[in-house]
Amino acid sequence: MVRLGTAPGDRAGPRRDHPLRPAGLQLPLRHAHRRRRGRRTHRRDRSRRLHRRRRRREHRQPEGGRGPDRGQHRARPRPGPDGGRRIRRERRPRQLRPGELRPAPRRRRALLHPRQDRHALPAQPARRQGRRGDRHGAARRRRRQRRRRRPVRPGRTAHRHAAHPREGLAPPERGSPVILTDFDYARPAALDEALALLATPDARVLAGGQSLLPGLRTGAERARLLVDVRHLAELRGVGRAGGSLRIGALTTLAELAAHPLVLAEAPELAAAARANGDPQVRNLGTAGGNLAAAGRATDLPVAALAADARVELAGPVGRTTLTAERLAASGVPAGSVVTALLVPAAGPAAAFEKAADRATRYPLCAAAVRVTPDGPRIAVTGATPRALRLRGVEDRLRGGPYTTEAVLAAFRAEPRELFVPGRGTSAEYLGHLAGVLTARALARAALNTA
Ligand SMILES: Cc1cc2nc3c(=O)[nH]c(=O)nc-3n(C[C@H](O)[C@H](O)[C@H](O)COP(=O)(O)OP(=O)(O)OC[C@H]3O[C@@H](n4cnc5c(N)ncnc54)[C@H](O)[C@@H]3O)c2cc1C
Repeated sequence: MVRLGTAPGDRAGPRRDHPLRPAGLQLPLRHAHRRRRGRRTHRRDRSRRLHRRRRRREHRQPEGGRGPDRGQHRARPRPGPDGGRRIRRERRPRQLRPGELRPAPRRRRALLHPRQDRHALPAQPARRQGRRGDRHGAARRRRRQRRRRRPVRPGRTAHRHAAHPREGLAPPERGSPVILTDFDYARPAALDEALALLATPDARVLAGGQSLLPGLRTGAERARLLVDVRHLAELRGVGRAGGSLRIGALTTLAELAAHPLVLAEAPELAAAARANGDPQVRNLGTAGGNLAAAGRATDLPVAALAADARVELAGPVGRTTLTAERLAASGVPAGSVVTALLVPAAGPAAAFEKAADRATRYPLCAAAVRVTPDGPRIAVTGATPRALRLRGVEDRLRGGPYTTEAVLAAFRAEPRELFVPGRGTSAEYLGHLAGVLTARALARAALNTA
């Protein structure tokens, strides 16, 4: 039996007694004693007060204490607007603190959405009508009308069979995934053997393959023999040679970008390598390959020009060196292999800047500078058809200061035909961009030396 008036926590009574609420309330707690649940004595002495009848319906209840019974929340028609529910109003905007900006209004959901229907197209086979006479016919028809042929949800496009592409959906021209021309492949064991193989007509050096192989796929490049030089030890390594850095032709762009000697003595080269393509391209592409592939959008030649670098070559007539400027103008002599790049060590007074098309990430323009006691050395590419040293700009800026206004004025004084339109951009735009990038590079070089 329940002993009324016992406070919770009072352990004076026998164990089976209910703990009670404070004496004033005198209501037993539900489920307070759970240890006997499921046993024979479970609920034996439960208070009757918990087992009373349901409340009567509100209109049957006596005056005074009327109220709904538990369970009256169940669905049923209720008086009032919207079935007795609260009218939903828009949330009131949060009160702004003094000076706080009002947030941008949220986009409202459109009440009417354009939807794409799913009627069969002329090229599509008619859907099976199925058996129409049986008892499932109507259900099948309903399913078709409600699911398969219903307009698609807003924002989605209807599924279309691959055999029925719409016009204009052909994939962009990216060339063939395989190289469709015949060529031979050779892997010489030594540089002399490679040079002998390169005497074959249409033989090409293969290094990282990041320019050559895409070119062969699109048909922009041709080769009858690929001479793979990737394992030739004499083309590897970065080190000092006199007052210069000697960068082996097979040094990958990733190695060049992170090499401590290059970062300290030729930072414009490291930055140009870092700006090249993506990590995959930089891990495979080589310094020699990037120099030899010199085009409008190649980065390393422009940095080599500003650094006044020389290129070491092995060819049919033996070992020679060329200035990077000469190599950019005339390319690698036929049958020769670039073995190394020789860069005068300059310290940190050098920088490289590049701008790419935002949508395609294709390089638009790049500028490299090296500040020497005789004045700045400036080279650009992208705005020009190939990497070029701008001696006119260098002369105008000699003695400084290298402010943005001074640099832009020096670029404006260049002959207009120097800059060539390309990639949907005008010559004026590219000339201005080259000036802006040069000004940034000069500012960065000054920052590096500070
Ligand atoms: C997705 C992508 C993005 C790219 N982005 C950029 C970019 O932003 N900037 C940029 O400058 N380049 C870019 N490139 C081009 C590419 O990074 C370089 O041109 C490439 O790294 C060249 O080096 P490689 O070792 O792969 O040369 P390969 O492709 O093997 O050869 C290129 C050419 O150089 C010749 N060659 C190679 N090595 C020698 C050698 N030692 N002696 C003589 N000739 C040689 C080959 O015969 C061939 O004609 C990109 C390429 C790809 C695929």
